[in-house]
This record gives sequence, C-alpha cells and structure tokens, in this order.
Amino acid sequence: MSGLGAGIRLALAGKRVILLEKHNTVGGLNGYYYRHSCKYDVGLHAMTNFVSRGGGSKPFAKLCRQLRLPYEAFQLAEQIRSCIHFPHTKLYFNNDFELLRSEISQKFPSCIDAFDQLAKTVIELNDTALSGTKFISTRAHLKDFIKDNTLREMLLLPLLYYGSAHVNDIDWRQFAILFKAIYLEGFARPRGGVRTILHLLREHYRKLGGILRVKTPVVSITIENNHASEVHLQTGEILRAHQIFSSIGHRETLRLLHSDNTIPSDAQTLSFLETITTLSGPPRMHNWHNTIIFYNDFTSVHYATPETCVDLHSGVVCIPENYQDDTSQTNTTLRTTHLANYDAWKSLSHAEYPTTKQHYLLQSRQKAFTILGQSSKAKPIAEDIFTPLTVERYTGHIKGAIYGHPNKIRDGNIGLTNLFICGTDQGFLGIVGALLSGISMVNHHTLQSK
Ligand SMILES: Cc1cc2nc3c(=O)[nH]c(=O)nc-3n(C[C@H](O)[C@H](O)[C@H](O)COP(=O)(O)OP(=O)(O)OC[C@H]3O[C@@H](n4cnc5c(N)ncnc54)[C@H](O)[C@@H]3O)c2cc1C
Repeated sequence: MSGLGAGIRLALAGKRVILLEKHNTVGGLNGYYYRHSCKYDVGLHAMTNFVSRGGGSKPFAKLCRQLRLPYEAFQLAEQIRSCIHFPHTKLYFNNDFELLRSEISQKFPSCIDAFDQLAKTVIELNDTALSGTKFISTRAHLKDFIKDNTLREMLLLPLLYYGSAHVNDIDWRQFAILFKAIYLEGFARPRGGVRTILHLLREHYRKLGGILRVKTPVVSITIENNHASEVHLQTGEILRAHQIFSSIGHRETLRLLHSDNTIPSDAQTLSFLETITTLSGPPRMHNWHNTIIFYNDFTSVHYATPETCVDLHSGVVCIPENYQDDTSQTNTTLRTTHLANYDAWKSLSHAEYPTTKQHYLLQSRQKAFTILGQSSKAKPIAEDIFTPLTVERYTGHIKGAIYGHPNKIRDGNIGLTNLFICGTDQGFLGIVGALLSGISMVNHHTLQSK
C-alpha cells in the first residue's frame, strides 16, 4: 500500500517510476487470494479513517486529493456498529462519536469530562509530524486523563490490536492517530473488499505511466558513499535510480544493503494468528449486529507475545461483510485475530504444524461464537488460517512482525542520501496510514526538498 501511494505520487509529479514486488500481485499485508474457489481478503477487517464526501482536512480526504482519486471510487460502506467487550462491560461505538460518548457517560459517568478532555487533547496533537520520534508511554500518560482502570484498558484494546508494535503499550502519537482513525472517524469497507482499492490504485498508477513489476524480488542494494547506487533483482538485472523508497521494513532493508542475514531481529516482535471462516447465510441471518468486536477476558489487557502458540484471552472478532446498506451478501465471513508466538510456531515439526493450525482454528472459532453469543452449530463452508510464519513468508517481515519494528523512523531517513523508508516502519499504519506514509515520504524527500 505505501509503495503504491509513493508510486502514484511520484508519477503524478512526472517522475519515471518502477514499483518492484516480489509476489505475483500487489497488496502485501492487505492483499487477496483465491482458495477452493472462495475469494479471501488477506487482511481487511475494515478501513479506518472514514469520512463522508468532502471530509476537509481529514486523512482520507487528504489521501484522495494527494492521489487525485475521487472519493466515490473507493465505494465505501459504513460499519453498522462495533463493540469493546470486557468481562462485565461493553462499550459500543460507530462512525458517530456521540455513541461512544453516550456509552461512556452511562457506564463510566464519573469519567465523561475526562474523556472529553482526552478527545480534545488528541484532536489538537500534531500526530503526523515527521520529527521527534521519542517514545511516550500511553499506558503512563493516559492515567493523567482517565482515572478508571477498566475504561483506560477498554479504550486501549482496539488501538493496540490495530496498530501497536510495542509490547503492552503504544506510543502516545500512535495512540492519537488511532484514536482519531477509529473513534472519531470510524470504519468503512469498500464494496468488493480490498480488491476494489488495489485495482483502483494499480490502474491509476499504470495510467500515470508507472511501471509495475511483480514476481521481481530485490535481492540486494549496493551502497557507495552513503548513496544507494544499484538495485539488484533476482532476475539478474541491475537498476539505477535517483531515489529509492523501501516499504519492506527497516531491518529488512538493512539486510538488503548488507547482503546478509546478520541484521539482528533484536526487538520483541509481535505477531498474530488470523482465522477466516465462511458460513452460509448473510450476517443478519445469524443475528450478528456488530461489525467488529474487540474482546478481552480480563479487566487488564495483556498485549504481549504469549508463552504458547496463541493467546485466546483477547482478540478481534470481525464480520467484514456486516456493513450498512449491504444487502447483497449470501454468505458471512467470520474473521478472528489473536496474539501469537512466532518462535513457538517455528519450533513445530512438519507433522505438528498443520495439526496445531487446525487445533487453533477450531479453538478460535469456538471463542468467537462464545463472544457472539451463539452456539457453535453453524457449519463452516470454507475456512483458512494463517500464522506468524505465513505473515513472514508473504510479507518478508522478520519474525512475522505484524506492525514492524517498535522504533519508527518518522522522516524515513536511515542515513543514506537517496534511499528512504516508507510504510510500516515509517510509522503510519493500516491502509489509509500506509498510503499516506508513501505520499508523505515522497512529498518530504522528492517534492519539498527540491
Ligand atoms: C491480518 C491483518 C489484518 C489487517 N487488517 C487491516 C484492516 O482491516 N484495515 C487496515 O487499514 N489495515 C489492516 N492491516 C494493516 C495493513 O495491512 C498494513 O498496515 C499495510 O498493508 C502495510 O503496508 P506497507 O506498505 O507498509 O507494507 P506491506 O504490506 O508489508 O508491503 C510490503 C511489500 O513489499 C514486498 N516485498 C518484501 N520484500 C521484498 C523484496 N525483497 N523485493 C520486492 N518486494 C518485496 C512484499 O511482498 C509486500 O507486498 C492488517 C494487517 C494484517 C496483517
């Protein structure tokens, strides 16, 4: 996504651009695939940052303007409602911030003024500044606003799952970005899923003259005097470019520069297990009225790599077709996400790996049915699962790090004159975030600096 964002922005500025993708299609962490004649989105639960047409200076409106794409082309359908599900309390929210406010004033009446103050502070924060990368602990800072532990944890849960690369915490600026993206703006889904967006971006890029090469892995990059002079492809070709934007991750890029695998994977990386189940009948037939449920079995959130393969005590249950005005669905997709342990999956034998996958697929689905308040009688017509090893294989992220390295490089600068980081390790996450990351890196390093 960030590569496409950067590519379109460069092509719009009249640059000659080539986009190199190692897989057979674009999309990365948010692509799509076919299995047993079923179409699946790899990642898409929802697109954050919903705005109605117009949208002023909001990120999604900015994205449309910067890429010169009409708002309607994304074909967005708004979420119905989402839920934060804790042992004794539920908080509902949708794309109207007033719903969350009224939930908090009913269920945590003593905290509503503090919540309003928090929202005001977040709105005023310049969270997209490219300077000042020092980590500020949200867990510590949030206590200055919200005194109730349960409310603090409830507000944190969706934001951790949708964008924190930090164990048990999230950077304050990242918290602000996600608070706006999820609570103040909200969720929507393009009709047709992630394909709609990818098709739109790819065709726009091509029409602007951008070249796309799929099945073309970059195997190394030569550096001379802090200048990236040559890009070596697996095909044996060598490319030279004035500028290079790398969306594969910081450590992953360093590995290409040094042509070896010795760049340490030092930081604790967080990875996920994701399951997909298709059930017959539309979501309403199952009486499911939420789009996304973020659940936690305890009153505090433990957002860390589990000891075992998967931690089912918290997670996301998503019904990605459960959107307003969408009456065309004949089946229901149920997706679940949980924290998972890369090393535990990696240590399984060839025989154990598929059986462990199957075990957790069933456990996770059972858990989702419990959260949805439904018996597990509904028979799946298709199912799939992916583990941290799948994430690593299909994205190249070391140890399947879903949100990359915890330390983000906001200005994309890694000490080279003409190679910059964009995407996950630059720090803007999700579909909208990744696209804006590509855009802002090009604006900063190509357009403004000239
Ligand atoms: C399970 C899951 C669910 C998600 N759900 C959502 C969601 O519902 N909504 C949302 O907004 N976001 C979601 N996200 C997050 C979103 O997908 C990411 O933030 C975004 O896709 C990141 O884009 P990126 O450009 O930074 O990098 P990536 O998506 O990681 O793309 C990097 C690309 O580089 C390619 N590559 C790697 N190495 C090489 C090489 N050597 N040579 C050539 N190409 C290479 C990879 O194949 C990949 O295509 C989800 C992510 C996951 C994993």
